[in-house]
Amino acid sequence: MRIKFLGTSSAVPTSERGLSAILVKVSRDTILMDCGDGTQRQMIRSRESPVRINKIFITHLHGDHFFGLFSLLQSLNILKKRDDLEIYAPEGLQDLIHKVNEITMSRESPFDIHFFSIKSDKEYEFSGYKVKFFKVDHAGFETYGVRIEESQKPGRFDPEKADELGVPVIMRGLLQKGFSIKLPDGRIVRPEDVMGPPRRGAVVVYSSDTRPTDSVVRESRGADLLIHEATYLDDLKDRAIATGHSTALEAGRVAREAGVKKLVLTHFSARYRKDDMPKFLEEAFQEFKGEVKTAEDFMTLDV
Ligand SMILES: [Zn+2]
Ligand SMILES: [Zn+2]
Repeated sequence: MRIKFLGTSSAVPTSERGLSAILVKVSRDTILMDCGDGTQRQMIRSRESPVRINKIFITHLHGDHFFGLFSLLQSLNILKKRDDLEIYAPEGLQDLIHKVNEITMSRESPFDIHFFSIKSDKEYEFSGYKVKFFKVDHAGFETYGVRIEESQKPGRFDPEKADELGVPVIMRGLLQKGFSIKLPDGRIVRPEDVMGPPRRGAVVVYSSDTRPTDSVVRESRGADLLIHEATYLDDLKDRAIATGHSTALEAGRVAREAGVKKLVLTHFSARYRKDDMPKFLEEAFQEFKGEVKTAEDFMTLDV
């Protein structure tokens, strides 16, 4: 799975950071999680083609997470996107998009858009991975976190075992694809004779906007990567509570409780600059001793 941060600021953009948007490449899909104002330009700047996106997840209907969708859809019309687009969002977005299209008399779209209303704990199975949306705690506003889990991968091929069993090199590919083979002397070799146990696919969880909450801990248990919002440093915890956000210290605590492998903080208040980022790391590290990063626009991670 490849994750690219396109926007890492909360509420308003800054000279350093765009509004919330994360691009995920998994299996054969290109997913956009949230689409703040300016997202399409961020994509173009980082050489990502908006036409490639085939799924969009909008975690909640606060403007900084989806106002970029209208202009993105207009560009996809102009660029003549052909493949279908699926949009997963809380109830209400579909009507809004139709209304905007009607008022702006936008031209007939050359591709089909399929809308899915997100419901809590709803899971979707796609080819090569699955996605679960779950409710988080954002000052009473309907907001969902996202868990993406790749399908199991076959175990590792053990060339030494294959040598021991006398499997000719030319037949090894079949075993790796899951077929049993018959050797020239009549012996049968099964895939499990030369392959390790199946490996779990990568798990990535995105908290969206939230206070520290049990559902994020539950869904990110043992995850390879937790992307957690850290709108504030802990001296502004009162503000975080009032607005339904988290501090870096709290995000670190969630990561520790969930036992994730890696934590990336994002969604920073516009009051913070790049120079403040070491303080975010320090706070999160007080709670979580694993690997912590602060996201910045265009940062890319392979999980
Ligand atoms: Zn936000
Ligand atoms: Zn929000």
